[in-house]
Amino acid sequence: MKSSLKTKFKKISGWGKTNLASVEIINPKTIKEIENIIINSPPKSIIARGMGRSYGDAAQIQGGTILKLNNFKEIFANYNSNEITAQAGVSFEEILEVIIPKGYFLPVTPGTKKITLGGAIAADIHGKNHHQDGSFGNHVKRIRLTNGMGKTITLSPNNENKEFFWATIGGMGLTGIIIDATFSIIPIETSYIEEETTRCKNIEVLIKEMSEIDTKYKYSVAWIDSMHNDFRGILSCGNHAKISKYNNSKNIKDLSFKHKAKANIPDILPNNIMNKFVIKIFNQLWYLKSPKTRKKKKLKSINNFFYPLDAINNWNNIYGKKGFLQYQIVVPLEHSAMIKKILVKLKGINALSFLPVLKKLGKPNKSYLSFPISGWTLSIDLPANNKEVESLLNEIDKEVAHIGGRIYLAKDSRQSEYIFKKTYKLLNIWQEKKRILDPKKIFKSDIAIRLKII
Ligand SMILES: Cc1cc2nc3c(=O)[nH]c(=O)nc-3n(C[C@H](O)[C@H](O)[C@H](O)COP(=O)(O)OP(=O)(O)OC[C@H]3O[C@@H](n4cnc5c(N)ncnc54)[C@H](O)[C@@H]3O)c2cc1C
Repeated sequence: MKSSLKTKFKKISGWGKTNLASVEIINPKTIKEIENIIINSPPKSIIARGMGRSYGDAAQIQGGTILKLNNFKEIFANYNSNEITAQAGVSFEEILEVIIPKGYFLPVTPGTKKITLGGAIAADIHGKNHHQDGSFGNHVKRIRLTNGMGKTITLSPNNENKEFFWATIGGMGLTGIIIDATFSIIPIETSYIEEETTRCKNIEVLIKEMSEIDTKYKYSVAWIDSMHNDFRGILSCGNHAKISKYNNSKNIKDLSFKHKAKANIPDILPNNIMNKFVIKIFNQLWYLKSPKTRKKKKLKSINNFFYPLDAINNWNNIYGKKGFLQYQIVVPLEHSAMIKKILVKLKGINALSFLPVLKKLGKPNKSYLSFPISGWTLSIDLPANNKEVESLLNEIDKEVAHIGGRIYLAKDSRQSEYIFKKTYKLLNIWQEKKRILDPKKIFKSDIAIRLKII
């Protein structure tokens, strides 16, 4: 699109640094500008982009236009009604800087705070509390969206627009540009999490323990040692720490939220730095760092508990120029055995992976394309451009699809159209809503082309 607005032309990719796209980037300043860009653009030419933390090709369109909402960063907090209205370009980090000192936290957060509100809604992100609180979309009360006709509309889960609301939650930016949204926030007494960690000697024990803590802890997640024969792991559970319990401690009254990345990974690392030796040592240290038996609970800062990876800037460079992929699947609860099967298969070809993450997901919401279903979700970082890994993942995809599982679109860079269409069963209904919101098919992304979503 030829625009009088300031534009930059750039090669971009997702966080996994695969699937490069050459795009024009526009940073509009007003809603009117966004509307005009949409009205004057040809079909299949625009997609929104947040902070580019989705791993694959969701926030790009080869040869097309990227709309970045860097100029849309206002936050209006209403602490009386426990809710926030924020513009879509604001990051979770920026929201947390405002609300934590006032005694509030996000209803759902992923494993990084370096994402935008727009990206959180479009991917309907989930966190360590999905088993209790569902995904981010469950807590959104209103969205303003500029649709494919360049018209800005208000969507809510409770009015006559509710189907378009749920098509936008998890809709991967394909229903329009999210301008701002209102969502609920939760009160906290301190900026600490009371964490309990448990070493589990194998994957079966890990799954059993995790199933049992559902009601006791708001947050839970597990890391698996994928290089270990029995796939031992560490289960980490937590609740927000309460002042009443820590009356005599000075620090616990603290509602501060300070964060500085401690390290930076340059983008000149060789591709083979991720060798078996490095990963084995890393996984071993991680396991030994946790107490042998269940111990007195430990206080962790919000940054250390939720965002350990944010301590290293550009950690995605560690895989070198070839990049990496994150394989995140979910399988229904009754198919927990599939998790071990996947780990065995990957170990069988010596696929190198830092600690895979396991999480139990709760009920899905009413959206059509969101990832979470009740079940077990496993996320594994793997080197990209490796034929053996790719062909094994193709085989695993089929097994996951066969038992009613699916792959997370915000992490995906490689699944086939066949697997996607077999596993996202509400796609047809979503497509009907898309046709109404965007009849000229203005919004398109590389993932939408690869999977023929539209
Ligand atoms: C270290 C790390 C940990 C993560 N942990 C988790 C996790 O625990 N749980 C989880 O669910 N996800 C997780 N993710 C994935 C991440 O939360 C999502 O990919 C999120 O969408 C990224 O937000 P973003 O602002 O970077 O969006 P981008 O990656 O830039 O875009 C993602 C999607 O949102 C759309 N989008 C962005 N802004 C708008 C807008 N204004 N209007 C319309 N559409 C828009 C884009 O078109 C694209 O489809 C993690 C990612 C990383 C790198």
